[in-house]
Amino acid sequence: MNYEGDIIRPPSEADAIIIQVTVGCSHNHCTFCGAYKNKSFRVRSDEEIEENIAFAEQYCRRQKRVFLADGDALILSQRRLLKIFSQIKGRLPWVKRLAMYGNAKAIRSKSREELKELKAGGLRRIYMGLESGDDTILAAVRKGETGESMIQAAEQVRAAEIFLSVTFLLGLGGISNSLQHARESGRVLSQMRPNQIAALCLMPLNNTPLGKEYAAGRFRLPDAQAMLLELRELIINLDCDRVQFMANHASNYLPLSGRLMRDKDSMLHKITLALQGNHPLVPEQYRAL
Ligand code: SF4
Repeated sequence: MNYEGDIIRPPSEADAIIIQVTVGCSHNHCTFCGAYKNKSFRVRSDEEIEENIAFAEQYCRRQKRVFLADGDALILSQRRLLKIFSQIKGRLPWVKRLAMYGNAKAIRSKSREELKELKAGGLRRIYMGLESGDDTILAAVRKGETGESMIQAAEQVRAAEIFLSVTFLLGLGGISNSLQHARESGRVLSQMRPNQIAALCLMPLNNTPLGKEYAAGRFRLPDAQAMLLELRELIINLDCDRVQFMANHASNYLPLSGRLMRDKDSMLHKITLALQGNHPLVPEQYRAL
């Protein structure tokens, strides 16, 4: 497969054929994100995409899913996406599911009808980063969105009946805004009502503006105990049913997963045990992005 730069995909797309249709992220301003800092955003040419589909046709016959990379492939025009979907359907008929990252702006750039058309073309899952539901934090990290604009984007995905997975970043408010970050995110996520919520822990990266603030001591990251308190506050403030909740990414101190609202109390109980020192945490050296 012909990839440009490092390829990033969600953990649940580990078995997918990854076809890179864009390079980088069209936003690329988030101060905590180092994923595409060394890539200038561009849409890959028809020839490059066709070459990768041809590779998959020959070598990826056992993989039933396709993930379209990079950062927000959904930003592609409707015409271009439908063309790629149709090529995948024609050349890789064994593929059952298409998925991609889509930031809130990319989602809002599509009408509900267009999203339904993408669903009919095979798009089954969109991964979107909320990071925080708190407008002050979103502005500070230059996400380019507000809680309300994220809720609006989520409503569009839900109306098209596409599975929506949303990430939340523990620690993004620093020590001072930790609980406010959790509360507002709980409120916004409850209104977004995604199918899946994935909570990750912020691990500041040297190549990011926030990482530099952290290294200079101007951004203070909550420690393990404070991250657990933040996670607890988030879950307390979640009021959305039939949502898969996961905090089991390698960055988390306490692997946790369950179904809301059914498992809310058991997840809170596990956090309480960990806060009391009665449940082990992932050692610092084993945490990773
Ligand atoms: S967090 Fe998402 S939207 Fe922000 S720069 Fe990274 S890939 Fe782009």
